[in-house]
Amino acid sequence: MKKLIAILLSAMFIIGAMSVTVNATDSFETPHIEFIFEDGTSLEIQNRIIADLTGENDGAAAYGLTCTLFGHKLDTGTTSAITHNASSTAPRCLQKTYSYEICTRCDYSEYTLLSSKYIYCC
Ligand SMILES: [Zn+2]
Ligand SMILES: [Zn+2]
Repeated sequence: MKKLIAILLSAMFIIGAMSVTVNATDSFETPHIEFIFEDGTSLEIQNRIIADLTGENDGAAAYGLTCTLFGHKLDTGTTSAITHNASSTAPRCLQKTYSYEICTRCDYSEYTLLSSKYIYCC
């Protein structure tokens, strides 16, 4: 199931460039999350972030033997997740900015919420 989601998300990345919309339905009123990545964020990292922050990841991190012995190979940066129509009154969209540490060799990932605010966008 996880693999299928990853494939679907990859297909969406090809269509949308840096701004990716994860849309549950086409209904305008349904909250949906849009991720904004820094330039140069790899697709693999983008997929990991989306899976982690949308709860697709089961949370059971499997650390590789190499990481256990030598430490993680970390990719760090910041990302924003905008939940559109999160509130019924204006401003309606919730923007959360995170800094992340993601190991490119295993399932380790760590997120720090930098800011959380409602914005006018929709
Ligand atoms: Zn690791
Ligand atoms: Zn919005």
